[in-house]
Amino acid sequence: MTFEYAPAPESRSVVDIDASYGLFIDGQFVNPIDGDRIKTINPATEEVLAEVSTAGPQDVAAAVAAARRAYDEVWSAMPGRERGKYVFRIARLLQERSRELAVLESLDNGKPIRESRDVDLPLAAAHFFSHAGWADKLAYAGLGPSPRSLGVAAQVIPWNFPLLMLAWKVAPALATGNTVVLKPAETTPLTALAFADICRQAELPPGVVNIITGAGETGRLLVESDGVDKVAFTGSTEVGKQIQRSVAGTRKRLTLELGGKSANIVFDDAPLDEAVEGIVNGITFNQGHVCCAGSRLLVQESIAEEVLDRLRRRLTTLRLGDPLDKNTDIGAINSAAQLARITELAASGDAEGAERWSAPCSLPDRGFWFPPTVFTGVTQAHRIAREEIFGPVLSVLTFRTPHEAVEKANNTPYGLSAGVWSEKGSRILWMASRLRAGVVWANTFNRFDPASPFGGYRESGFGREGGIAGLAAYLQEDDR
Ligand code: NAD
Repeated sequence: MTFEYAPAPESRSVVDIDASYGLFIDGQFVNPIDGDRIKTINPATEEVLAEVSTAGPQDVAAAVAAARRAYDEVWSAMPGRERGKYVFRIARLLQERSRELAVLESLDNGKPIRESRDVDLPLAAAHFFSHAGWADKLAYAGLGPSPRSLGVAAQVIPWNFPLLMLAWKVAPALATGNTVVLKPAETTPLTALAFADICRQAELPPGVVNIITGAGETGRLLVESDGVDKVAFTGSTEVGKQIQRSVAGTRKRLTLELGGKSANIVFDDAPLDEAVEGIVNGITFNQGHVCCAGSRLLVQESIAEEVLDRLRRRLTTLRLGDPLDKNTDIGAINSAAQLARITELAASGDAEGAERWSAPCSLPDRGFWFPPTVFTGVTQAHRIAREEIFGPVLSVLTFRTPHEAVEKANNTPYGLSAGVWSEKGSRILWMASRLRAGVVWANTFNRFDPASPFGGYRESGFGREGGIAGLAAYLQEDDR
């Protein structure tokens, strides 16, 4: 039986979007000196939401200079207890404005309001709360008796979790006494610009946080600026490699959070209903635009048919459509370019001989959409088993023994996350110690906590965000 749902739209009127935005430099919104303008659209309707600035070379230099002044004159000398008050204030403002920010995120990104409201916003606030608490306790973090900050942090983030990735970057930087120039992704700048307003509301000293919008060129200018001491990047492995090359040989500290092709491994003793929920969450959460998505399902051969039957049945019940409808499970793909990439990679699955099944859902006429899709008959050589698709497309492989599961799971250039589903604790520990992934979830998937470090191995990058390891990435190494 399928249920009919009445529409349950979240109100758009809780958000005011300006027609045009400047750059947030030194505590003020300013027009670009030598930059340009780009439009940001709602990917569910293709409606233009606003025009934003792109920062050119002089704008980037002005933002870095403002961050340096704020660092030298105010922030680096401020006691941790005082710094922490600002970070707590930001956390509370995020909570107070969470409904508005959730709607704004769903409009600009295409993610379902259920996720922006229940995941992105609570986690972003939690990140600021958690780090605010550390600001006056750094001397007790095991990172030396009086850890020192680095200086100016250049931070570049992607479009899949715009506000949450901002929180992962800005919260530890501020708590440890650094100042920030952050560039959001070109397709999702609006919540970062709303965050600039929150910084003003929190009366953060001017220049401590600067937000400059723009595309890849603005990001390149920022990370290559001589005035920055630390570069923190989240995005594709390809751009991460370029940044690593440009930073090599400089004094800049670097952390890279890159792509993934993570394995979700289901053993025959797993609780199957829970495992199926975890598989669905692992690949459809945020339309699969998740760096740590469980995009390779490794299922033990003896239960493969049963798991796939249950999986198809469950995926059939998901509701795809208006991201602002509270009943929506699957929202819009973030951009035409990303939809083209998903479509191309899925077509390669067909061409290489895998078998495609897509959930039977009707796609809206306007906007960018892709139905939840499962490929079976996948081999390790197929592109859909090796390349990050960054969409709701699952590649299914089977295994017979735990050794084979480990071998297949690790057969990837990436190493961001893995999931293990089994009733046996000993088996989970055995697997976790052999899987080369930064995070291993046991009988769950896509769980995040500000106290728990997140990051990758190999082509998934290096450095950790969250926890004490995340603080260390913003503090001088020779103090330890
Ligand atoms: P992307 O690398 O194209 O862009 C990411 C950001 O980098 C954007 O702000 C972009 O404008 C900027 N950028 C582009 N070229 C640049 C350059 N030469 N120098 C500096 N900045 C530049 O990636 P994307 O398509 O926006 O994001 C998707 C990717 O991000 C996926 O591969 C995903 O796995 C990864 N990701 C990783 C994590 C993680 O924590 N490991 C989290 C989210 C996303």
